[in-house]
Amino acid sequence: MTTPRQPIEPAEALSLVLENARLSAPESLPLLEAVSLILAEEIPAEHDLPPFDRATMDGYGVRLADAGRSPRVVAVVPAGRPVELVLEDGDAVEIMTGAPCPQGVEAVVKVESTTRDGDRVRLPSTLERGRHIVARGSEHRAGAPLLSKGARLTPLAIAAAATAGRATVRVIPRPRVAVISTGAELTRPGEVRVPGRIRDSNRPMMAALLLESGLGEPSDHSVTDDRKIIDETLRGILAGEPPPHVLVLSGGVSVGRFDLVPEALLALGAEVVFHGVRQRPGKPLLFARLGERLIFGLPGNPLSVLAGFHGYVAPALRRMMGLPATRPPFSAHLDGPFQTTSERHQRVLAEVTSGADGELIARPLIGKGSGDLSAVQGANAYLMFNPGHHRLRAGAEVRGEWLK
Ligand code: AMP
Ligand code: MG
Repeated sequence: MTTPRQPIEPAEALSLVLENARLSAPESLPLLEAVSLILAEEIPAEHDLPPFDRATMDGYGVRLADAGRSPRVVAVVPAGRPVELVLEDGDAVEIMTGAPCPQGVEAVVKVESTTRDGDRVRLPSTLERGRHIVARGSEHRAGAPLLSKGARLTPLAIAAAATAGRATVRVIPRPRVAVISTGAELTRPGEVRVPGRIRDSNRPMMAALLLESGLGEPSDHSVTDDRKIIDETLRGILAGEPPPHVLVLSGGVSVGRFDLVPEALLALGAEVVFHGVRQRPGKPLLFARLGERLIFGLPGNPLSVLAGFHGYVAPALRRMMGLPATRPPFSAHLDGPFQTTSERHQRVLAEVTSGADGELIARPLIGKGSGDLSAVQGANAYLMFNPGHHRLRAGAEVRGEWLK
């Protein structure tokens, strides 16, 4: 067993984690696997945008000389089918939104402003050059950057990459994250219930946190409190093809006789960066590295796992993905009186809603301990309290961090 050390401050723990989290190497991914990721290349327009003089209304492509007259409709131009002709005075084409204007078209008149009479169309008495036409290259020139390196692939950026003809893009990928729950007391959902055991809720929760946040590609595993089995499973995971970038374990990092995770990690050759943080919940949190690989040992109580993910794992993954590691806190007002005392920094789950004047109202959700999942179901944020005694009245200002 490792000797318990003096727990470090959460701020120091976070900066140690972030010092060890390196930006991941770029990879080429299919466009839709790259949603929300950071672009690792510049994407130029493959051609002028629009690539042709484009009609922006259903109507008629006309000559200015035919204002107030009734030119003859000589062709129909649908979107996607260019018509090779040179329009002359006295002639018009019927044209659809998105269609390329044939040569000689000087304006598009919308259908509502015209009267059709057989093969002729009556035009308004004034026409404006270029009306309802977006000229070729007027939005963007071929070769000019449409997206810059470092841009986030929002749905709008995905549209721009698609416009540039890209089916794959070079991006900073999501880290592969192995989640491993440890504990002899665990049975998986769907398995037969065994007296004295509990369901493994951390394994699906950790995978769900990664899937919901989009911060990692999870693979999930579980082990009992047996050194041989823990060692074999960890070796198997690390030998995976491809291996994970990050390991997140739940349970087995405290000081109990069967808390075997720290010694198993040391036996693997991992370097423990810290073990123990002055926080509630989740004091025995362990952070180690094995080469470039990051390893988080989160205390097994489900709410410690949640807090460990939001406090340390998510910031590390964001840093690896080229995103801002932490997000700004917000302030809110308590919906009622609230008291709390701890020698440690606390994260208290809360339901935060918008009040009548748009200010944020926080309702702390206090269960019967860090294993109580029923009391906290409405939580969307944490309230953060420094060590000490806090006796707060309704309306008092509190600092919060969003879960998402
Ligand atoms: P540990 O950190 O291993 O001492 O576990 C702390 C508490 O969390 C114990 O009550 C465990 O039974 C519980 N626990 C550990 N792992 C899980 C899990 N995967 N799902 C639900 N509860 C767990
Ligand atoms: Mg355990």
